[in-house]
Amino acid sequence: DPKVKEKLTKAQRSRQNRFSQILNKFALDGQVALVTGGGQGIGRGIAHGLGEAGCKVAVADLELSRAETVAAELQAKGIQSLALKVDVSKKQEVEDMVKKVLSTFGDLHIGVNNAGIVFHSDSEDTSEKEWTKTMDVNLNGVFYCCQAEAKHMLKKGYGRIINTASMSATIVNHPQKQVAYNTSKAGVVHMSKTLGTEWCDRGVTVNCISPGYADTELNRSESLLAVRTQWLNETPMHKLADVDDLVGGVLYLTSGLANFTTGLDLIMDGGFTCW
Ligand code: NAD
Repeated sequence: DPKVKEKLTKAQRSRQNRFSQILNKFALDGQVALVTGGGQGIGRGIAHGLGEAGCKVAVADLELSRAETVAAELQAKGIQSLALKVDVSKKQEVEDMVKKVLSTFGDLHIGVNNAGIVFHSDSEDTSEKEWTKTMDVNLNGVFYCCQAEAKHMLKKGYGRIINTASMSATIVNHPQKQVAYNTSKAGVVHMSKTLGTEWCDRGVTVNCISPGYADTELNRSESLLAVRTQWLNETPMHKLADVDDLVGGVLYLTSGLANFTTGLDLIMDGGFTCW
């Protein structure tokens, strides 16, 4: 019956329209994003995701050559990008990094503070150097980035800050020992809640993502090879996260669908923390 067909197509069209309105909320065209630790692993995946969503992307890393490689990958896709060298544990370097993004792209809408390191040692033997270095990069570094980014964003009345914490903020990993890392990541979660409530009524939200075990360099050291099988067994999905499994969470938090979300710890762990 042509009338039923006509009605159906109308319904389909209006559904398509509604769906494209939702999809449009993920579009970040014209926005500028900065990703620290963007030279490999999770940060690299996030840089690609934000670029594909329409952002110009500044890729910052301690290893400039890594940042340059990722920036070149983005440019090959037609995404405007910039490679920067930064040690996030140095406040002045972080401030200079943000200044360089602003002088290059003219604005900063999204900050993904993702650089992080881990040491494994029994707690009683954890050295002062391991403890301090971990806090310097994972905790102080994230704070310096949030501060430098927010100084600009608060003036503009808009910003989306996403910090990479970890499920280790919530659970205690075993058998590998990592007291400094776990403590630093718990700090990142609570810092994000604190900043996320302080700045949100001025347009700047702060959230964090907390990945479970992901298949990146961070987890490929010789000493961890044996426990990887245990992680697979203890993860309800029986897999490690691919970097792409984590990107969707960031795109959600930067999208127009997350306008009422601040201080969230978005755990993406294949169910690990539920068991
Ligand atoms: P990765 O080691 O593969 O990459 C981290 C990147 O950060 C590297 O390119 C490194 O050069 C850079 N970096 C290190 N110190 C830096 C510093 N001081 N300043 C600037 N850049 C620096 O790690 P990843 O697995 O991609 O982890 C990224 C983030 O995700 C980290 O914060 C990590 O703690 C967190 N995380 C990882 C996992 C996982 O299983 N891989 C799980 C939960 C959370």
